[in-house]
Amino acid sequence: MGSKFTWQLSLRRAFPKTYAMLHPTLNPPWPSEEFPRAADASVVWWRCPEDHEFQASIRTVASSENPCLVCSGRLVRPGVNDLATTHPELAERWVANLNPGLTSSDVTAASEIEIVLTLSCSHAAPATPAAWVLGDIACPLCG
Ligand SMILES: [Zn+2]
Ligand SMILES: [Zn+2]
Repeated sequence: MGSKFTWQLSLRRAFPKTYAMLHPTLNPPWPSEEFPRAADASVVWWRCPEDHEFQASIRTVASSENPCLVCSGRLVRPGVNDLATTHPELAERWVANLNPGLTSSDVTAASEIEIVLTLSCSHAAPATPAAWVLGDIACPLCG
């Protein structure tokens, strides 16, 4: 995947799993099954097997291992894949004043930003959601 040759192909031939996720009714019709191309930067509608509907460019979605931005946690959908919904035990440890402008409904377990939660020692520390999901991180104060 990802070679120049692949990207010149139609989405259907290059990334059949992604092609199958093109939204069946919300997109304008393409002239043939040879369109869209895998490298197309147009923003279109998608629907994954879990019925998550979202908009994103064909390029962005095409090559991903998990093409659904909601399933893969790259797009936050409160009540579906936000941290408060998927990991309420972590959301309870959210430190509001150390996460300015952010709540546990604004990130997913796959978000690539650092969030500040309280540790079992009751100090707070920053780490990515993925690190928090794995377990407590080392306390910067207690060591
Ligand atoms: Zn999905
Ligand atoms: Zn500590």
